[in-house]
Amino acid sequence: MASPSSSGSSSPALRWGLRLSLLAGGIAAVLSLQPRLVPQGVFSSSSSSSSNHGQDGDRTYCYQAVRTAAINPEQDVNCFSVSPEGTFTRVFRSPPDNEREYEIRPGYVIPGLWDGHGHLLQYGEFLHSADLFGADSPDEVRRSLREYLERNPGVGTKETWDMIEQDEILRGKYFMLDRVDVHCTWVSQAVLDLLPDDLPDEVPGGEIVRTPGMGVFCDNAMDLVTPLWPKPSAERKKTFVASAMKELHKVGLVGMHDAGVLPRDIAMYDQMSRTDDWTLRVYAMVECPERNTFCPDEAVKVEHPDGMLSVRSVKLFADGALGSWGSAMIEPYSDRPDSTGSLLVNASTLTTLAKSWSAAGFQVNIHAIGDLANRLAMDALETSLRDLCPGQENLSACQSRHRFRIEHSQIIHPADQKRMHEIGIIPSIQPTHATSDMAYAALRLGEERIRTEAYRMRSLLDVRPVLGSDFPVEPPNPFEGVYAAVTRKNPRTGRGLPGSEDGWHVEEALSMEQAFDGFTRGAAWGAFLEGKAGVIQEGAFGDWVVLDDDIGLVGVEELRHLKVRETWVGGKTVYQRDFGNEEGKGEKEDL
Ligand SMILES: [Zn+2]
Repeated sequence: MASPSSSGSSSPALRWGLRLSLLAGGIAAVLSLQPRLVPQGVFSSSSSSSSNHGQDGDRTYCYQAVRTAAINPEQDVNCFSVSPEGTFTRVFRSPPDNEREYEIRPGYVIPGLWDGHGHLLQYGEFLHSADLFGADSPDEVRRSLREYLERNPGVGTKETWDMIEQDEILRGKYFMLDRVDVHCTWVSQAVLDLLPDDLPDEVPGGEIVRTPGMGVFCDNAMDLVTPLWPKPSAERKKTFVASAMKELHKVGLVGMHDAGVLPRDIAMYDQMSRTDDWTLRVYAMVECPERNTFCPDEAVKVEHPDGMLSVRSVKLFADGALGSWGSAMIEPYSDRPDSTGSLLVNASTLTTLAKSWSAAGFQVNIHAIGDLANRLAMDALETSLRDLCPGQENLSACQSRHRFRIEHSQIIHPADQKRMHEIGIIPSIQPTHATSDMAYAALRLGEERIRTEAYRMRSLLDVRPVLGSDFPVEPPNPFEGVYAAVTRKNPRTGRGLPGSEDGWHVEEALSMEQAFDGFTRGAAWGAFLEGKAGVIQEGAFGDWVVLDDDIGLVGVEELRHLKVRETWVGGKTVYQRDFGNEEGKGEKEDL
């Protein structure tokens, strides 16, 4: 997780989400979360002797139109067949004289969308948490928490945890509130009482905030608190995963890159992914129990033949977030000339780790926000490539085999952008971070750095950016991500900088096709899934999304409100919009 969306105007401490643990109480909704996995309204080619499309058992689907790729779809088609194993076996146009056989279903198809950087479990936790977004005073935080306690009786005990004492109902409760970017946490007095009296004055790479009172711990200082937090049970985590997958399918996601999963959670994923409850493709990056270490004995690679879970990469962390001045900068912050932020790991350790992991056969993905962090990440990755491919002058061929990534790639010095182009290091970018940060980014960085270094997109197109959202830091809706990339405006407000109708630094904006490409083929390339994911073609995963209109004709402003009609993964329906419940749409549609 990365860039916080705290705005400059409200106190950063107030943009929090409540960490799940507290929420031990009610999560009933899961029962209704089982996706519908039965294909409907289709016919089997084996039942249709006159047609010659596909093997026995394949199912064929025809729609008003099928767009096979975001950019330059090669074929003018509207039908495809999917094997019982869930891969496309044929893509074709229905013969105009044979409409009865080829039942045309309503809707327009695009390839299944991927989020190139999110956090599955944390998103599930978030869905079951008190939501404090928008609370801009301590009173409002307390009010939200009281309501939350009412809805979830039993939370806030020492066994669960939840905060904030100047309220009779909340006093004495165990609360821990995570800042939206999870780079700080705010705990109640009851939790503070569990800590030793001799807390250090200074924490390297972190901060204990002491004014106006104790309670907030940032970055490395969070390590003082989080070990005390009672971890959710495996059952509860499964609930989180199920909730998260259901919500992600609603917005057209068929897969995601999970940017940091502990080995024990990967073991749980592995188990779950062999059941029908696992409906989303997950490309998970291993994060060691102790951050920024080498833990090869615990890091097990996973490759499911059906492509539902893949683990072959590792996540390392170079720095913190911009909002809390935690990103590591070459030159001081413009609004804090005494500070250049902080590295979470020193340069030589980062390089050693990248070399060890890549020698063990892992793709190395480094979180880097500030320009110093990006420089050191690039150093570590370049050194690793030189080790992997000795004697090769040009490292780009080596890199295209190993596909090292920089997660966020947010602020990159021009000299390091040049290296990124030369070597082909993959930038993993979240377009909505740019539009959430724009209000305060210029304060932190100054206009010159904004203009030459920050939130690049268009100028990085040649190195195949992977696009994502960093959910739950930002909402997971990829159509909002495309909107932010194309307009450089906030998808929630439809505006640029406060008071401005114009997009923010539109010289770095993408076209709609380029943006969708980042959420399809870009994400596939960054996960070694090219030809399998993000495209509709023979041999690819049978994943697709159905929209009400042809995406090529949808205006960019409509993306903000676009609703997905159906989402399919491996030839099975995982989401189908309920037309009966839609406001302004009285009719029930039969799909
Ligand atoms: Zn992240």
